[in-house]
Amino acid sequence: MASLPELASSHTVTERFLRYVTIDTQSSPTSESYPSTEKQKDLGRLLVQELHAIGLSDARLDEFGIVYATLPANTAKAVPVICLCAHMDTSPDVTGKDVKPQLVRNYQGEDIVLPGDPTQVIRAAEHPALQQQIGNDIITTDGTTLLGADNKAGIAEIMDAVTILLANPQIKHGTLKILFTPDEEIGRGVDNVDLKKLGADFGYTVDGETAGSLEDETFSADKATLTLRGVSVHPGFAKGRMENAIKIGARIIERLPRDSCSPETTEGREGFVHPTGFEAKLEGGTLGFIIRDFTEAGLREKGAMLEAIAEQVMRDFPGSTCELKIEPQYRNMKAVLDRHPQVSANALEAIRRAGLAPHRGSIRGGTDGSRLSLMGLPCPNIFAGEHAFHSRLEWVSVQDMQKAVETIIHLAMIWEEQAA
Ligand SMILES: [Zn+2]
Repeated sequence: MASLPELASSHTVTERFLRYVTIDTQSSPTSESYPSTEKQKDLGRLLVQELHAIGLSDARLDEFGIVYATLPANTAKAVPVICLCAHMDTSPDVTGKDVKPQLVRNYQGEDIVLPGDPTQVIRAAEHPALQQQIGNDIITTDGTTLLGADNKAGIAEIMDAVTILLANPQIKHGTLKILFTPDEEIGRGVDNVDLKKLGADFGYTVDGETAGSLEDETFSADKATLTLRGVSVHPGFAKGRMENAIKIGARIIERLPRDSCSPETTEGREGFVHPTGFEAKLEGGTLGFIIRDFTEAGLREKGAMLEAIAEQVMRDFPGSTCELKIEPQYRNMKAVLDRHPQVSANALEAIRRAGLAPHRGSIRGGTDGSRLSLMGLPCPNIFAGEHAFHSRLEWVSVQDMQKAVETIIHLAMIWEEQAA
Protein backbone atom coordinates (compact mmCIF):
# COMPACT_ATOMS: atom_id res chain seq x y z
CA MET A 1 0.00 0.00 0.00
CA ALA A 2 1.24 3.47 -0.82
CA SER A 3 1.74 5.72 2.21
CA LEU A 4 -1.09 8.10 3.06
CA PRO A 5 0.87 11.18 1.94
CA GLU A 6 1.37 9.48 -1.45
CA LEU A 7 -2.29 8.51 -1.70
CA ALA A 8 -3.38 12.05 -0.81
CA SER A 9 -0.95 13.84 -3.10
CA SER A 10 -2.37 12.52 -6.35
CA HIS A 11 -3.58 16.03 -7.25
CA THR A 12 -7.14 14.80 -7.50
CA VAL A 13 -8.17 17.07 -4.65
CA THR A 14 -6.92 20.10 -6.61
CA GLU A 15 -8.66 18.96 -9.79
CA ARG A 16 -11.90 18.57 -7.89
CA PHE A 17 -11.50 21.92 -6.19
CA LEU A 18 -10.87 23.74 -9.48
CA ARG A 19 -13.97 22.07 -10.95
CA TYR A 20 -16.26 23.00 -8.03
CA VAL A 21 -15.23 26.66 -7.74
CA THR A 22 -16.28 27.42 -11.32
CA ILE A 23 -19.92 26.68 -10.37
CA ASP A 24 -21.62 29.78 -8.93
CA THR A 25 -23.32 28.82 -5.65
CA GLN A 26 -23.77 32.18 -3.95
CA SER A 27 -26.57 32.09 -1.36
CA SER A 28 -28.96 34.98 -0.73
CA PRO A 29 -30.13 36.23 2.69
CA THR A 30 -33.15 37.99 1.17
CA SER A 31 -34.59 34.87 -0.44
CA GLU A 32 -37.38 32.95 1.30
CA SER A 33 -36.89 29.69 -0.58
CA TYR A 34 -34.88 26.52 0.24
CA PRO A 35 -32.21 26.51 -1.00
CA SER A 36 -32.07 30.30 -1.09
CA THR A 37 -30.75 30.17 -4.65
CA GLU A 38 -31.61 27.45 -7.15
CA LYS A 39 -28.08 27.49 -8.64
CA GLN A 40 -26.67 25.83 -5.54
CA LYS A 41 -28.33 22.64 -6.82
CA ASP A 42 -26.03 22.76 -9.89
CA LEU A 43 -23.11 21.83 -7.64
CA GLY A 44 -25.30 19.42 -5.66
CA ARG A 45 -26.21 17.53 -8.87
CA LEU A 46 -22.56 17.34 -9.96
CA LEU A 47 -21.51 15.99 -6.55
CA VAL A 48 -24.24 13.34 -6.63
CA GLN A 49 -23.09 12.28 -10.12
CA GLU A 50 -19.49 12.03 -8.93
CA LEU A 51 -20.51 10.11 -5.80
CA HIS A 52 -22.51 7.65 -7.95
CA ALA A 53 -19.51 7.30 -10.28
CA ILE A 54 -17.18 6.28 -7.44
CA GLY A 55 -19.77 3.79 -6.16
CA LEU A 56 -21.81 5.51 -3.46
CA SER A 57 -25.10 4.37 -4.92
CA ASP A 58 -27.36 5.96 -2.29
CA ALA A 59 -26.10 9.52 -2.99
CA ARG A 60 -29.00 11.91 -3.52
CA LEU A 61 -29.89 15.58 -3.67
CA ASP A 62 -33.14 16.34 -1.84
CA GLU A 63 -35.69 19.07 -2.53
CA PHE A 64 -33.98 21.40 -0.06
CA GLY A 65 -30.69 21.20 -1.96
CA ILE A 66 -28.99 18.95 0.60
CA VAL A 67 -26.69 16.12 -0.56
CA TYR A 68 -26.63 12.88 1.48
CA ALA A 69 -24.47 9.81 0.77
CA THR A 70 -23.09 6.78 2.62
CA LEU A 71 -19.70 5.11 2.46
CA PRO A 72 -20.46 1.68 3.97
CA ALA A 73 -18.18 0.25 6.69
CA ASN A 74 -15.55 -2.31 5.65
CA THR A 75 -14.98 -3.66 9.14
CA ALA A 76 -16.93 -6.04 11.37
CA LYS A 77 -16.32 -3.85 14.41
CA ALA A 78 -19.11 -1.68 15.84
CA VAL A 79 -17.73 1.72 14.91
CA PRO A 80 -19.73 4.91 15.59
CA VAL A 81 -21.18 6.37 12.38
CA ILE A 82 -19.25 9.52 11.48
CA CYS A 83 -20.65 12.37 9.39
CA LEU A 84 -18.37 14.51 7.22
CA CYS A 85 -20.00 17.85 6.47
CA ALA A 86 -19.19 20.81 4.21
CA HIS A 87 -21.28 23.59 2.70
CA MET A 88 -21.84 24.20 -0.98
CA ASP A 89 -22.79 27.88 -0.95
CA THR A 90 -20.48 30.89 -1.00
CA SER A 91 -20.83 34.20 0.80
CA PRO A 92 -23.41 36.78 -0.38
CA ASP A 93 -20.76 39.47 0.31
CA VAL A 94 -18.71 38.97 -2.87
CA THR A 95 -19.71 37.60 -6.25
CA GLY A 96 -18.94 33.95 -6.98
CA LYS A 97 -19.85 34.10 -10.69
CA ASP A 98 -17.20 33.26 -13.32
CA VAL A 99 -14.49 32.39 -10.81
CA LYS A 100 -11.14 32.17 -12.64
CA PRO A 101 -8.69 30.43 -10.33
CA GLN A 102 -4.94 31.08 -10.67
CA LEU A 103 -2.22 28.71 -9.49
CA VAL A 104 0.98 30.21 -8.06
CA ARG A 105 3.49 27.34 -8.05
CA ASN A 106 6.35 27.13 -5.57
CA TYR A 107 5.41 30.28 -3.66
CA GLN A 108 8.45 32.21 -2.39
CA GLY A 109 7.01 34.79 0.02
CA GLU A 110 6.22 37.53 -2.49
CA ASP A 111 3.08 39.70 -2.72
CA ILE A 112 0.60 38.07 -5.11
CA VAL A 113 -0.91 40.50 -7.65
CA LEU A 114 -4.23 39.23 -9.01
CA PRO A 115 -4.21 39.46 -12.81
CA GLY A 116 -7.87 40.31 -13.50
CA ASP A 117 -7.69 43.40 -11.24
CA PRO A 118 -4.11 44.38 -10.37
CA THR A 119 -5.36 46.67 -7.58
CA GLN A 120 -6.14 43.45 -5.72
CA VAL A 121 -2.92 42.30 -4.08
CA ILE A 122 -2.50 39.55 -1.49
CA ARG A 123 0.27 41.24 0.50
CA ALA A 124 2.56 38.94 2.44
CA ALA A 125 2.68 41.52 5.26
CA GLU A 126 -1.12 41.50 5.61
CA HIS A 127 -1.46 37.72 5.29
CA PRO A 128 1.07 36.31 7.78
CA ALA A 129 -0.24 32.78 7.16
CA LEU A 130 1.50 32.94 3.77
CA GLN A 131 4.84 32.58 5.56
CA GLN A 132 3.90 28.97 6.31
CA GLN A 133 3.40 28.34 2.58
CA ILE A 134 6.92 28.84 1.21
CA GLY A 135 7.48 26.24 -1.52
CA ASN A 136 3.77 25.40 -1.69
CA ASP A 137 1.33 25.94 -4.56
CA ILE A 138 -1.23 28.66 -3.84
CA ILE A 139 -4.62 28.97 -5.55
CA THR A 140 -6.15 32.46 -5.76
CA THR A 141 -8.79 34.14 -7.90
CA ASP A 142 -8.07 36.62 -10.69
CA GLY A 143 -9.17 39.38 -8.30
CA THR A 144 -12.70 39.92 -9.66
CA THR A 145 -14.58 37.35 -7.52
CA LEU A 146 -14.18 35.39 -4.32
CA LEU A 147 -12.57 31.95 -4.64
CA GLY A 148 -15.03 29.80 -2.72
CA ALA A 149 -12.38 27.76 -0.88
CA ASP A 150 -14.88 28.47 1.89
CA ASN A 151 -16.14 25.75 1.66
CA LYS A 152 -15.43 24.04 -1.65
CA ALA A 153 -11.98 23.15 -0.32
CA GLY A 154 -13.81 21.12 2.33
CA ILE A 155 -16.06 19.49 -0.26
CA ALA A 156 -13.09 18.56 -2.47
CA GLU A 157 -11.22 17.15 0.54
CA ILE A 158 -14.15 15.01 1.69
CA MET A 159 -14.78 13.78 -1.88
CA ASP A 160 -11.10 12.91 -2.30
CA ALA A 161 -10.80 11.16 1.07
CA VAL A 162 -13.88 9.03 0.33
CA THR A 163 -12.53 8.14 -3.13
CA ILE A 164 -9.20 7.07 -1.63
CA LEU A 165 -10.92 5.00 1.08
CA LEU A 166 -13.03 3.20 -1.53
CA ALA A 167 -10.00 2.43 -3.70
CA ASN A 168 -8.00 1.12 -0.72
CA PRO A 169 -10.13 -1.46 1.12
CA GLN A 170 -7.10 -2.39 3.26
CA ILE A 171 -7.78 0.88 5.16
CA LYS A 172 -10.46 -0.13 7.67
CA HIS A 173 -13.21 2.27 8.64
CA GLY A 174 -16.76 2.39 9.98
CA THR A 175 -19.76 3.83 8.13
CA LEU A 176 -19.15 7.39 6.93
CA LYS A 177 -22.07 9.70 6.12
CA ILE A 178 -21.50 12.56 3.74
CA LEU A 179 -23.55 15.72 4.18
CA PHE A 180 -23.22 18.71 1.85
CA THR A 181 -25.45 21.64 2.84
CA PRO A 182 -26.64 24.79 1.05
CA ASP A 183 -27.09 28.20 2.69
CA GLU A 184 -24.54 27.92 5.52
CA GLU A 185 -23.38 31.48 4.87
CA ILE A 186 -26.86 32.82 5.61
CA GLY A 187 -27.26 30.69 8.74
CA ARG A 188 -29.83 28.28 7.29
CA GLY A 189 -27.49 25.41 6.38
CA VAL A 190 -29.01 22.78 8.59
CA ASP A 191 -32.61 24.04 8.85
CA ASN A 192 -33.80 21.12 6.75
CA VAL A 193 -31.24 18.45 7.60
CA ASP A 194 -33.00 15.27 8.68
CA LEU A 195 -30.79 13.84 11.43
CA LYS A 196 -32.80 10.59 11.53
CA LYS A 197 -32.27 10.09 7.81
CA LEU A 198 -28.59 10.98 8.22
CA GLY A 199 -28.17 8.41 11.00
CA ALA A 200 -24.77 9.54 12.30
CA ASP A 201 -23.43 9.44 15.87
CA PHE A 202 -20.82 12.20 15.56
CA GLY A 203 -19.78 14.63 12.86
CA TYR A 204 -17.12 17.00 11.65
CA THR A 205 -17.49 20.09 9.51
CA VAL A 206 -14.42 20.51 7.29
CA ASP A 207 -14.58 24.29 7.09
CA GLY A 208 -11.67 25.69 9.07
CA GLU A 209 -8.73 27.88 8.28
CA THR A 210 -5.07 27.07 9.00
CA ALA A 211 -3.75 23.54 8.48
CA GLY A 212 -3.77 21.68 11.79
CA SER A 213 -6.60 23.64 13.40
CA LEU A 214 -9.61 22.18 15.20
CA GLU A 215 -12.38 24.39 16.51
CA ASP A 216 -14.69 22.97 19.15
CA GLU A 217 -16.13 26.22 20.39
CA THR A 218 -18.29 28.91 18.76
CA PHE A 219 -20.06 32.01 19.95
CA SER A 220 -23.45 31.72 21.58
CA ALA A 221 -25.77 34.10 19.80
CA ASP A 222 -28.95 36.03 20.59
CA LYS A 223 -30.87 38.51 18.53
CA ALA A 224 -32.42 41.53 20.29
CA THR A 225 -35.18 43.78 19.00
CA LEU A 226 -36.19 47.03 20.70
CA THR A 227 -39.61 48.31 19.68
CA LEU A 228 -40.14 52.01 20.43
CA ARG A 229 -43.39 53.99 20.63
CA GLY A 230 -42.93 57.76 20.81
CA VAL A 231 -45.49 60.55 21.24
CA SER A 232 -46.47 62.13 17.93
CA VAL A 233 -47.67 65.72 17.90
CA HIS A 234 -47.84 68.38 15.16
CA PRO A 235 -44.36 70.00 15.21
CA GLY A 236 -45.91 73.47 15.50
CA PHE A 237 -47.69 72.57 18.74
CA ALA A 238 -45.20 70.08 20.20
CA LYS A 239 -43.60 71.97 23.06
CA GLY A 240 -43.40 69.83 26.18
CA ARG A 241 -45.41 67.04 24.56
CA MET A 242 -43.64 65.49 21.59
CA GLU A 243 -41.37 62.47 22.22
CA ASN A 244 -39.54 61.62 19.01
CA ALA A 245 -38.78 57.90 18.61
CA ILE A 246 -35.89 58.71 16.25
CA LYS A 247 -34.21 60.64 19.06
CA ILE A 248 -34.98 57.94 21.64
CA GLY A 249 -33.34 55.31 19.43
CA ALA A 250 -30.33 57.52 18.75
CA ARG A 251 -29.80 58.06 22.48
CA ILE A 252 -29.91 54.34 23.18
CA ILE A 253 -27.26 53.66 20.53
CA GLU A 254 -25.21 56.58 21.81
CA ARG A 255 -25.08 55.03 25.29
CA LEU A 256 -23.59 51.70 24.15
CA PRO A 257 -20.02 51.30 25.44
CA ARG A 258 -17.50 52.99 23.12
CA ASP A 259 -14.27 51.25 24.02
CA SER A 260 -15.54 47.75 24.66
CA CYS A 261 -18.31 45.29 23.90
CA SER A 262 -18.47 46.01 20.14
CA PRO A 263 -17.15 43.99 17.15
CA GLU A 264 -14.68 46.78 16.40
CA THR A 265 -13.18 46.79 19.92
CA THR A 266 -13.08 43.08 20.81
CA GLU A 267 -11.21 39.91 19.87
CA GLY A 268 -10.43 36.45 21.23
CA ARG A 269 -12.97 35.40 23.84
CA GLU A 270 -14.65 38.79 24.31
CA GLY A 271 -18.28 39.15 23.33
CA PHE A 272 -20.27 42.15 22.13
CA VAL A 273 -23.60 43.90 21.55
CA HIS A 274 -23.84 45.11 17.96
CA PRO A 275 -26.59 47.28 16.43
CA THR A 276 -27.55 45.84 13.05
CA GLY A 277 -30.45 48.04 12.06
CA PHE A 278 -32.40 51.17 13.05
CA GLU A 279 -35.67 52.12 11.42
CA ALA A 280 -37.72 54.89 12.95
CA LYS A 281 -40.23 57.67 12.39
CA LEU A 282 -41.44 60.21 14.91
CA GLU A 283 -44.13 57.95 16.32
CA GLY A 284 -42.19 54.71 16.57
CA GLY A 285 -39.42 52.48 15.38
CA THR A 286 -37.29 49.39 15.87
CA LEU A 287 -33.66 48.86 16.77
CA GLY A 288 -32.07 45.52 15.88
CA PHE A 289 -29.03 44.08 17.68
CA ILE A 290 -27.04 40.90 17.73
CA ILE A 291 -25.52 39.75 21.02
CA ARG A 292 -22.50 37.42 21.06
CA ASP A 293 -20.55 35.73 23.84
CA PHE A 294 -18.86 32.40 24.54
CA THR A 295 -20.83 31.84 27.77
CA GLU A 296 -24.51 31.90 28.71
CA ALA A 297 -23.72 34.21 31.62
CA GLY A 298 -21.93 36.64 29.31
CA LEU A 299 -24.86 36.58 26.92
CA ARG A 300 -27.34 37.31 29.73
CA GLU A 301 -25.13 40.10 31.08
CA LYS A 302 -25.05 41.80 27.70
CA GLY A 303 -28.80 41.48 27.27
CA ALA A 304 -29.24 42.98 30.74
CA MET A 305 -26.91 45.86 29.85
CA LEU A 306 -29.02 46.66 26.80
CA GLU A 307 -32.17 46.55 28.91
CA ALA A 308 -30.63 48.87 31.53
CA ILE A 309 -29.54 51.39 28.90
CA ALA A 310 -33.03 51.40 27.38
CA GLU A 311 -34.69 51.83 30.80
CA GLN A 312 -32.40 54.72 31.67
CA VAL A 313 -33.09 56.51 28.39
CA MET A 314 -36.86 55.94 28.69
CA ARG A 315 -36.94 57.86 32.00
CA ASP A 316 -36.59 61.06 29.95
CA PHE A 317 -39.57 60.06 27.80
CA PRO A 318 -42.44 59.28 30.19
CA GLY A 319 -45.09 59.19 27.46
CA SER A 320 -43.19 56.69 25.32
CA THR A 321 -42.74 52.95 25.57
CA CYS A 322 -39.97 50.55 24.76
CA GLU A 323 -40.19 46.78 24.52
CA LEU A 324 -37.12 44.55 24.40
CA LYS A 325 -37.36 41.08 22.88
CA ILE A 326 -34.35 38.74 23.03
CA GLU A 327 -34.39 35.57 20.95
CA PRO A 328 -31.79 32.79 20.80
CA GLN A 329 -30.04 32.25 17.44
CA TYR A 330 -27.43 29.54 18.12
CA ARG A 331 -25.38 28.21 21.02
CA ASN A 332 -21.73 27.42 21.72
CA MET A 333 -21.18 23.77 20.81
CA LYS A 334 -18.54 23.40 23.54
CA ALA A 335 -21.04 22.30 26.19
CA VAL A 336 -22.17 19.44 23.92
CA LEU A 337 -18.66 18.47 22.81
CA ASP A 338 -17.38 18.40 26.40
CA ARG A 339 -19.77 15.49 27.01
CA HIS A 340 -18.09 13.56 24.15
CA PRO A 341 -14.39 14.36 24.57
CA GLN A 342 -13.37 11.59 22.17
CA VAL A 343 -14.79 13.48 19.18
CA SER A 344 -12.29 16.34 19.41
CA ALA A 345 -9.51 14.09 20.79
CA ASN A 346 -9.73 11.85 17.71
CA ALA A 347 -9.55 14.85 15.39
CA LEU A 348 -6.45 16.16 17.19
CA GLU A 349 -4.85 12.72 16.90
CA ALA A 350 -5.70 12.54 13.18
CA ILE A 351 -4.09 15.95 12.66
CA ARG A 352 -0.97 14.74 14.49
CA ARG A 353 -0.80 11.58 12.37
CA ALA A 354 -1.01 13.74 9.25
CA GLY A 355 2.25 15.30 10.43
CA LEU A 356 0.84 18.63 11.62
CA ALA A 357 0.96 20.37 14.98
CA PRO A 358 -2.68 20.39 16.17
CA HIS A 359 -4.08 23.72 17.27
CA ARG A 360 -7.37 23.97 19.17
CA GLY A 361 -9.30 27.21 18.81
CA SER A 362 -12.65 28.92 19.00
CA ILE A 363 -14.69 30.63 16.30
CA ARG A 364 -16.05 34.16 16.69
CA GLY A 365 -19.12 33.11 14.77
CA GLY A 366 -21.33 30.10 14.22
CA THR A 367 -21.03 27.06 11.97
CA ASP A 368 -23.33 24.37 10.66
CA GLY A 369 -21.54 22.30 13.30
CA SER A 370 -22.65 24.48 16.19
CA ARG A 371 -26.26 24.06 15.07
CA LEU A 372 -25.83 20.32 14.44
CA SER A 373 -24.21 19.87 17.88
CA LEU A 374 -27.20 21.46 19.57
CA MET A 375 -29.57 19.39 17.40
CA GLY A 376 -27.91 16.24 18.77
CA LEU A 377 -24.98 15.56 16.43
CA PRO A 378 -21.77 16.62 18.22
CA CYS A 379 -19.77 18.26 15.45
CA PRO A 380 -16.52 20.25 15.80
CA ASN A 381 -14.82 21.95 12.86
CA ILE A 382 -11.57 20.75 11.29
CA PHE A 383 -9.38 22.76 8.95
CA ALA A 384 -9.93 22.94 5.20
CA GLY A 385 -7.05 25.37 4.52
CA GLU A 386 -9.28 28.36 3.66
CA HIS A 387 -7.77 31.85 4.05
CA ALA A 388 -9.10 35.41 3.63
CA PHE A 389 -12.56 33.99 2.90
CA HIS A 390 -15.49 36.19 1.85
CA SER A 391 -13.05 38.37 -0.13
CA ARG A 392 -11.43 38.73 -3.54
CA LEU A 393 -8.12 37.93 -1.85
CA GLU A 394 -9.25 34.46 -0.78
CA TRP A 395 -6.60 31.74 -1.18
CA VAL A 396 -5.88 28.11 -0.35
CA SER A 397 -2.80 25.96 -0.82
CA VAL A 398 -2.71 22.64 -2.64
CA GLN A 399 -0.53 21.13 0.10
CA ASP A 400 -2.94 22.16 2.89
CA MET A 401 -5.82 20.54 1.00
CA GLN A 402 -3.77 17.34 0.71
CA LYS A 403 -3.10 17.45 4.47
CA ALA A 404 -6.83 17.81 5.09
CA VAL A 405 -7.49 14.72 2.94
CA GLU A 406 -4.91 12.78 4.98
CA THR A 407 -6.46 14.04 8.23
CA ILE A 408 -9.93 12.83 7.20
CA ILE A 409 -8.57 9.38 6.30
CA HIS A 410 -6.68 9.13 9.60
CA LEU A 411 -9.81 10.18 11.45
CA ALA A 412 -11.79 7.32 9.89
CA MET A 413 -8.99 4.89 10.79
CA ILE A 414 -8.77 6.12 14.40
CA TRP A 415 -12.49 5.64 15.04
CA GLU A 416 -12.18 2.09 13.67
CA GLU A 417 -9.09 1.30 15.79
CA GLN A 418 -10.89 2.37 18.96
CA ALA A 419 -13.99 0.29 18.35
CA ALA A 420 -14.49 -3.12 19.91
ZN1 LIG B 1 -17.61 28.26 5.55
